[in-house]
Amino acid sequence: MTDEKQNNGAGKRGSGGNKGGRGGGKQSAAAKTPAKTAAKATSKATAAKGGRGRGRQNANMQTSQQEAEQSVSLVSNPLAQGALKPSAPISHLASSKEFKLKIIPLGGLGEVGKNMTIIQYGEEMIVIDAGVMFPENELFGIDMVIPDYSYLVENRDKVLAFILTHGHEDHIGALPYVLRDVDVPVYGSALTLGLVKGKLNEFKQPAKLITAAPRQVINIGPFRVEFIHVTHSIPDSFALAIHTPVGVVLFASDFKVDLSPIDGQMMDFGRLSTLGERGVLLLLADSTNVEKPGFTPSEKTVGSSFDKIFLNAPGRIFVTSFASNVHRIQQAVWTAARTGRRIAIVGRGMQNVTAIAKELGYLDLPQELLVDIDRINSLPANQVLVLTTGSQGEPLSGLTRMASGEHRQIQILPGDTVVISASPIPGHERLVGRIIDKLFKLGATVIHEKGEGIHVSGHANREDLMLLHNIVKPHFFMPVHGEYRMLVKHARLAQQLGMEEENTFVLENGQVLEVSRRRCRVNGQVPSGRVLIDGLGVGDVGNTVLKERRILSESGILLVYMVFTRKNNVRILAGPEIFSRGFIFEKEYEHIIDEIKEKVNGLCTREALAEGSTYELSSRVRSTLARFLLDRTGRRPVILPIITEVKA
Ligand SMILES: [Zn+2]
Ligand SMILES: [Zn+2]
Repeated sequence: MTDEKQNNGAGKRGSGGNKGGRGGGKQSAAAKTPAKTAAKATSKATAAKGGRGRGRQNANMQTSQQEAEQSVSLVSNPLAQGALKPSAPISHLASSKEFKLKIIPLGGLGEVGKNMTIIQYGEEMIVIDAGVMFPENELFGIDMVIPDYSYLVENRDKVLAFILTHGHEDHIGALPYVLRDVDVPVYGSALTLGLVKGKLNEFKQPAKLITAAPRQVINIGPFRVEFIHVTHSIPDSFALAIHTPVGVVLFASDFKVDLSPIDGQMMDFGRLSTLGERGVLLLLADSTNVEKPGFTPSEKTVGSSFDKIFLNAPGRIFVTSFASNVHRIQQAVWTAARTGRRIAIVGRGMQNVTAIAKELGYLDLPQELLVDIDRINSLPANQVLVLTTGSQGEPLSGLTRMASGEHRQIQILPGDTVVISASPIPGHERLVGRIIDKLFKLGATVIHEKGEGIHVSGHANREDLMLLHNIVKPHFFMPVHGEYRMLVKHARLAQQLGMEEENTFVLENGQVLEVSRRRCRVNGQVPSGRVLIDGLGVGDVGNTVLKERRILSESGILLVYMVFTRKNNVRILAGPEIFSRGFIFEKEYEHIIDEIKEKVNGLCTREALAEGSTYELSSRVRSTLARFLLDRTGRRPVILPIITEVKA
């Protein structure tokens, strides 16, 4: 599919200015940075080693603000500055190769989760984020889902790096799997990489992790990647300005506009508006909350709700949230300190993340506030706060175990207050609902409702998004991160703000957006989809297995067991025995079981046993029984004949 559109806005601006080809000259200089040459060289070297690029280092870091400014002016969109007329010849870009820049989403479009986006220029590419998605009930027994990254494996010698926007699972969770096949350096903020490190240690997967600071600019092949601080429901989150030879691509992954952030780290409006002034060719931005009106409330509002709850609760308080929501944890800690409660941290996830966040200085959690879980019973009930995981009803989480009375150290008692400080991710509502019911049965007060002020979203509502569009003023826009309807609504929002419809691009995973200085078009498709992770297996559970699991869950299984021999005299030694699971209750349907046995005996005549192979026998048993059972019960169970010949 080719869907070509013109960059009208840029054309207009371009013809207005006349600063001589300054941008063009510097452009080619930028494309010849030593970093690129080094990257090429190391690529070749690693290719010779079988494509495993461990330790590949092609970054050339710049830290000072001056250098950052300089590097930015080298590569920002010359059209937007009026430095180049659209028709001016561009020396290193042959016209047939106009579209050297490609944006390829492998995940996160038409869905919430498993975010992964490729930015490719010529023969080199970087990958933004590598996330997981937690499956809904329709995926029987599947632990999680990651993007199909076969395009990266096919092109592994062209992949230069992973760039992480922040530390949420839907942005980093697939890394341990993907790095096994595509082993390149990983860039991200200190907290993001702290969380990644913990994850990689569990998988014993080594990796080269390179920490980036806000406003730092790092050369990676033909790209200059600039890290810009944004506010979100995890500290240390970045938007990325990717300076490419054809212009600036601004990747605004998850963010919200929080004007009173807990850590005082403001969203970097200054840098974003400078980039906007200089010209952003293409904006990609989070669409999760595009359907929600107004501004997203500040995280700080949750603190005052905590205050009220903590002051009024008669007994122990349990707060559950995403472990990664460090600012939420921080507010619970501060409120506990103010109201004279000691804190027990329960659950491995919560312990890991708070330890990492504390060590890296993102969480202020004085040691004297902490109390060992075994000692909380020695404290008065109104001096206890328990922080735990389980806000999504995860089966192994602390809260789920407590609610089911299966926790070794903690029992929920009447008088306890449980605060569920998160909203269920789509598909988890019923699970969470069941846990809330169990807690009520145990006599606890559960605070979980929207109106209670105990949770705010980490994603940009409509007004937040409009603010970003206003500041960045991109020429082209491609919505990311959201269900398909959200992407369409986000594109419409950009149109309402004055962008031409033909300059907005709603894509699906795997589609390729080709970008030049003047135009964008959707052209081409790479493999995309999902890889299912079940236990230790990655991708070994395919659609066939899923189909079998679905049939098993819907209609059960029927097992036909029989042993025969042809030695001396053809005869049946054992069976036919019929076993079923999840199909029919044998007592009630004894006559059906008898009929099944009759059918099997009818098929396994002396002649049939003497002539046919066991395979032929089995398939005849299967097809005959399938027809019979559908006819008599209207069901289609999995039929598994186990027919064995004894030869000795
Ligand atoms: Zn996300
Ligand atoms: Zn996020």
